[in-house]
Amino acid sequence: MPADSPPSAEPMAPSAAATTVQGGVSVLQKALQKLGLERDIDLALHLPLRYEDETRITALADARDGQVVQIEATVTANEVQLHPRHQLLVRVEDATGVCELRFFSFYPSHQKTLAVGAQLRIRGEIRGGFRGRQMLHPSLRAAGGELPAALTPVYPSTAGLPQPYLRRAVGSALDRVDLSDTLPPGAEPPCARHARHAHENGGQHFFSLREALDFLHHPAPDVTLSTLQDRSHPAWQRVKAEELLAQQLSQQQSRRERGLLRAAVLRVQQAADGSPPLHEQLLAVLPFALTAAQRRVGREIAADLASEVPMHRLLQGDVGSGKTVVAAQAACLAMDAGWQCALMAPTEILAEQHFARMLGWLEPLLAARGRRVARLAGGQRKKERAAMLALIESGEAALVVGTHAVIQEQVRFRNLALAIIDEQHRFGVAQRLALRKKLAEHGIEPHLLMMSATPIPRTLAMSYYADLDVSVIDELPPGRTPIVTRLIADSRKDEVIARIGAQVAAGRQVYWVCPLIEESEALDLTNATATHAELSAALPGVTVGLLHARMPGAEKKAVMALFSGGQMGVLVSTTVIEVGVDVPNASLMVIEHAERFGLSQLHQLRGRVGRGAAASACVLLYATNDSGRVGGSARERLRAMAETSDGFEIARRDLQIRGPGEFLGARQSGDALLRFADLATDSPLLEWARALAPVMLDRHPELAARHVARWLGGRADYLKA
Ligand code: ADP
Ligand code: MG
Repeated sequence: MPADSPPSAEPMAPSAAATTVQGGVSVLQKALQKLGLERDIDLALHLPLRYEDETRITALADARDGQVVQIEATVTANEVQLHPRHQLLVRVEDATGVCELRFFSFYPSHQKTLAVGAQLRIRGEIRGGFRGRQMLHPSLRAAGGELPAALTPVYPSTAGLPQPYLRRAVGSALDRVDLSDTLPPGAEPPCARHARHAHENGGQHFFSLREALDFLHHPAPDVTLSTLQDRSHPAWQRVKAEELLAQQLSQQQSRRERGLLRAAVLRVQQAADGSPPLHEQLLAVLPFALTAAQRRVGREIAADLASEVPMHRLLQGDVGSGKTVVAAQAACLAMDAGWQCALMAPTEILAEQHFARMLGWLEPLLAARGRRVARLAGGQRKKERAAMLALIESGEAALVVGTHAVIQEQVRFRNLALAIIDEQHRFGVAQRLALRKKLAEHGIEPHLLMMSATPIPRTLAMSYYADLDVSVIDELPPGRTPIVTRLIADSRKDEVIARIGAQVAAGRQVYWVCPLIEESEALDLTNATATHAELSAALPGVTVGLLHARMPGAEKKAVMALFSGGQMGVLVSTTVIEVGVDVPNASLMVIEHAERFGLSQLHQLRGRVGRGAAASACVLLYATNDSGRVGGSARERLRAMAETSDGFEIARRDLQIRGPGEFLGARQSGDALLRFADLATDSPLLEWARALAPVMLDRHPELAARHVARWLGGRADYLKA
């Protein structure tokens, strides 16, 4: 029963289900498990969605239209109607008025309960006023029972788990569970003052966890409901503070554990023959000078690498800010010291591009040292793959570039000292856990550099990424012209196609992105193929290429080579080009059905242009609905794209539109997300938790361990991924 369905006949809920045993576990217990409610503490922390006030009886004369009320009344008439539809109609009266109850579905037991003369306590929403009061499917019980002293909780539930059962389960768990305090004395969170005691004790009394949970499950009827709804009530503050503390403890703990591991110390050594180190040679072959921001983050990374504590650093930089060369420099430091480095990308296209770039920059320099760059990808021929694996195992491959093929079992590094993960947010939790395992197989712990163009807003960085150090490239290379973004209705597609012709005639190149169709990769393909045909026909003399996820690797590679070589004017593709592809001569990006894309995805796509000196544009073609509009959050996304090209601002708005759960996407399984705290409003609690966690880990390790176990149980691992 969804928690917000109309009240049903509670006493008649099928209690038989509780005894239906399947392999020793009742159906109800299964439903509890499905909600993750296994331990007493899980139930105690399963907090109500909302409350019903069953603490008083309303006289019918006082019941207003639309109000949810509880009345006590006597049945005076009772009839099953067949027309206009099958329903049970019941008339009830109290001393002040009359009300009609309607049931469209009912059991014989209903009719018995509702026999004329029965006195009932009835709860439901009043419809209609004074002349014809009605209730649809109210809940019923015998009149005269004691009224509860507290509000009745309504819990998040699932099919087959009736509220009364859930209430009893939570209630008895709450009685049994140990909620003794895990906060050290004097460490109370801000805002968690007990309102009532604040006066008496000069504001010194705080909700304990026990008091907070007892209260939130069974609040006194005089509570201001809005403070429960918006979770500003001190009891809520206490719970949210505890949750944030658990997250901080677990992340700071994992940071400390990492601090005990030992990694290779990668310091630049002077070569015996006096030749300059690799990273200096790299600078000399680059066709550009590094920006100040690139140099700064380079120093931050170099300092980490020179320490025996394994690096765990996230390199953030907007699309096009030049993260790749920073990665290459870090790799040089490792290789110079005689170690191996791995560079991993989420897609084959991106891995291929990195490989080509590293080959161009580094292969000549490495060759002089008798070492090489190796490549590993899913679609590789057996023979090539075997050769690469041998190079990696012997250590001749100083740098290994590839997709997640790099962390597969057969791969054996000789001495891996640094792993770089590009577009790290695109790797799933499972892949990241696998990577850590893989890396841990080696006696020595590698340094880890993660890169992402999706900036993480500060509050998220402080909470979900608290175990990471963060470096930010906050500057684009010089000479970039801002990208002009236009929103154009797809009824004007022809004009856009004409503009493509003009761009190509001027020697520029164009991306045309077709949307992913969620339900069907095949449809996706048909769509891209049709667009390819349409553009080819409309643009005679222009080479129009097609790229999609289902193409064999070699074919993808060939198409990308033509486009990046400048022999192809227009590239029609599905979102496979989303991450990292770099073709500086491309100056126009057209995104069809832009309303279907997520904000960060649009920003990533737009970042494919504006990489050279030419003025660039991004056209967001959108389809409107029948009334000529774009609906809801799609409109907000398109507006954000038109208004700003700042990645941090985009991320902030994305967070606003989607909330942290979806924003974090692959970083977290839903389980490990914060359930109660809201980073947008709870930053004082987050600051508190962040400051308290190290103190607890130092001085009260046993409290810290109990706190984490209580709140995270087995999920702590996921927070580290
Ligand atoms: P991203 O941070 O999105 O991965 P890339 O590393 O792909 O960005 O760099 C984008 C483009 O900018 C590439 O063509 C790269 O060669 C170029 N680039 C990087 N750093 C500089 C710089 N300091 N000056 C000029 N161009 C640069
Ligand atoms: Mg990149």
